[in-house]
Amino acid sequence: MTSTRIRSADAVTAAAAGRPAAAGRPAAAEPGLSATVSGSLAAALRRSAEIERRIGEEPRSFRVLTGDRPTGDLHLGHYFGTLRNRVRLQEAGAELYVLVADYQVLTDRDAAGALGEHVLGLVLDYLAAGIDPARATIFAHSAVPELNQLLLPFLSLVSTGELGRNPTVKDEIAHARQRSPVGAVAPTDPRGMSEGKTCISSMRPVSGLMFSYPVHQAADILSCKGNLVPVGQDQLPHLEVTRLVARRFNERYPGAGGPVFPSPDALLSEAPLLLGTDGGKMSKSRGNAIALRATADETARLIRGAKTDAQRRISYDPVTRPEVSSLVLLAALCLDRDPAAVADQVGDGGAAALKRTVTEAVNERLAPLRTRRAELAADPGYARQVLREGCARARAVAVATLEEVRDAMGTRY
Ligand code: ATP
Ligand code: MG
Repeated sequence: MTSTRIRSADAVTAAAAGRPAAAGRPAAAEPGLSATVSGSLAAALRRSAEIERRIGEEPRSFRVLTGDRPTGDLHLGHYFGTLRNRVRLQEAGAELYVLVADYQVLTDRDAAGALGEHVLGLVLDYLAAGIDPARATIFAHSAVPELNQLLLPFLSLVSTGELGRNPTVKDEIAHARQRSPVGAVAPTDPRGMSEGKTCISSMRPVSGLMFSYPVHQAADILSCKGNLVPVGQDQLPHLEVTRLVARRFNERYPGAGGPVFPSPDALLSEAPLLLGTDGGKMSKSRGNAIALRATADETARLIRGAKTDAQRRISYDPVTRPEVSSLVLLAALCLDRDPAAVADQVGDGGAAALKRTVTEAVNERLAPLRTRRAELAADPGYARQVLREGCARARAVAVATLEEVRDAMGTRY
């Protein structure tokens, strides 16, 4: 596994927030993310750089929990945004929990549909990417009742106002409504949603589960007392809710043996927000993703259709050329090279040459993962067994945490 070369926090912040480093002008928010998030992004990137140093020195001090919704195949945004970091942490000796967030699919889906198939697909993606079930615990929400039981006391610790202001929840709601068969015109400006200009009302009703999504995520992370969460930029507001819940729980219910919960940190990568083929955040649910399991030909087709701009010379400037720059970044990540050098090399070749470079880089990078995934998929019983064993391990940990919670709350009868 190639190590992630962390650039300066300012440079990565700039790329992710769509502005040049140290430009001295107001941050232009990325689609779907507010200026506040861009601000907290800078802080999270600085903190990630500090954590990287500690990972080098004391990797075993980290208990890592992170996860994904089984809404489809994992994509390149997952790989470079979080999955690669999970594998790196596992290899460094950190304790790793990977959550298949199956209950969170029901936040914005009417029916479980292909849930079972997607859950196993996710497990295959994890294993193919290098998550080792002998060292890491892969589990699903629905198999750990004690995790879900934490949701009730945690919900009492946050106000509905705090939940309503969460920019990522607003953005997810906007997109869920765009997909909604219920009809009605959905808001088309996720930036407006993120800034709270569009209120959560009318059209398809927002489920209580969607609204409490970040608190459920706090239960995920804190059920195993995770102290590090490798995530993409969109998860930063959620992680703030987890920190708030942990702090308030510890204040309200001081445990006899000290605070019950840690205050987890986010770990961001060099690609906290990889863009999809339409120029928005690459997402499973938005039809703009390049799946890790895609064939080489599908990958070529998707990249050929990716949005670019009319300028012939290729450059790396996430402010003025977000789509072109995201493609350049993708090639750079696959090749483990500097994005500016990749852009220079393509030079006057234009979008067609850039796309050829990206396609070759992605296909070469993913070839071993794809081969491994196909081998693993030949025995679906194995992925099921990995999940069953992981659920049992995660449950034992959540049971112990819930016991501590009961003691602290005085609800052991
Ligand atoms: P959905 O459309 O169902 O919400 P998603 O593609 O957004 O799917 P999630 O399961 O919500 O994926 O996210 C799983 C993890 O991957 C989170 O840590 C998230 O921050 C990260 N992630 C998702 N998309 C990207 C992206 N485009 N760039 C970087 N990280 C990403
Ligand atoms: Mg998402």
